[in-house]
Amino acid sequence: MRRILLLATGGTIACVPGDNGLIPGMNGEQLLRLLDMDVTDVTCADLFNMDSSNIQPEEWKQMAAAVKEAADAYGAIVITHGTDTMAYTASMLTFLLQNIPIPVILTGSQYPMVYPDSDGRANLQNAIIAARAMPGGVYILFGSGIIRGCRAVKTRTTSLNAFESINAPYVGTVVDGRYIPLDEKQPAGDFLYYDDVVTDVALIKLVPGTSPALLRNLLHSGVKGLVVEAFGLGGVHNFRRDHAESLKYLIENQVPVILTSQCLYEASSLNVYEVSSALKKAGAISAFDMTTEAAVTKLMWALSQTRDMEKIRLLMQTDLCGEISV
Ligand code: ASP
Repeated sequence: MRRILLLATGGTIACVPGDNGLIPGMNGEQLLRLLDMDVTDVTCADLFNMDSSNIQPEEWKQMAAAVKEAADAYGAIVITHGTDTMAYTASMLTFLLQNIPIPVILTGSQYPMVYPDSDGRANLQNAIIAARAMPGGVYILFGSGIIRGCRAVKTRTTSLNAFESINAPYVGTVVDGRYIPLDEKQPAGDFLYYDDVVTDVALIKLVPGTSPALLRNLLHSGVKGLVVEAFGLGGVHNFRRDHAESLKYLIENQVPVILTSQCLYEASSLNVYEVSSALKKAGAISAFDMTTEAAVTKLMWALSQTRDMEKIRLLMQTDLCGEISV
């Protein structure tokens, strides 16, 4: 039987009413006590108790280090986490804990576990059930669906099916207390743990009329890497306001520029439209079908590995953990 570690980090699942609104206040043991199942195989550790809007690279590194430290002693890890930035955390942990041999399953809820009809109880129970059976990897379990960590996006603010698997099949599901595999993959290589990320990465969503100066000036704010959510397949302005010129300026100054799409589904490409051709010549890197969350966190990780622009291009365009469909 696997021993499971529950790492509690806060979020709505742990919230209690406070003077100014909901505030994380319950620890892992208190969450476990509200479950309606045998949890003798689960041990708790409290990392912090935060609304996930406050979770930043410092907390990602703390979580990755805690998982790495526990990976020998435990057969699986469940992380309770706020939903608002859970997709970023799951993506980042995927890149910091590549090929982890045990399952690391993030879950949370839309309603606090202290509410009688909270979704937190089912989500945490399902996460523990999945943890007992799944192969290594980083995942999000929400409702009954299990999503690869680097493919999850929070698509709903309040509904119980808050997360979707984008451009990738669901890995598995939990139905009536049983884990059912759907698209499981075993880790593809040796476990690689990384403890550094470069945080000066910006994400810009273009709007019609975005000033090229706004893009150029990012260089002078210390940006080390940029992800641009362009229009459709990867379109940008090329007359009146020339985005390609500004992005070229950043690339010439050693800032990698990753082009992703404002569309949630399917891939971006710089090979189809004339409006994207100058970007390709300038050296912009297509994110293919990565989620924005995966593109941002992968770039933060890649920049911590190298500053060589060609090596970053290669890392960004190679599928490392299932984040890109080749
Ligand atoms: N604000 C909360 C958080 O992300 C929302 C949630 O957990 O659902 O911590």
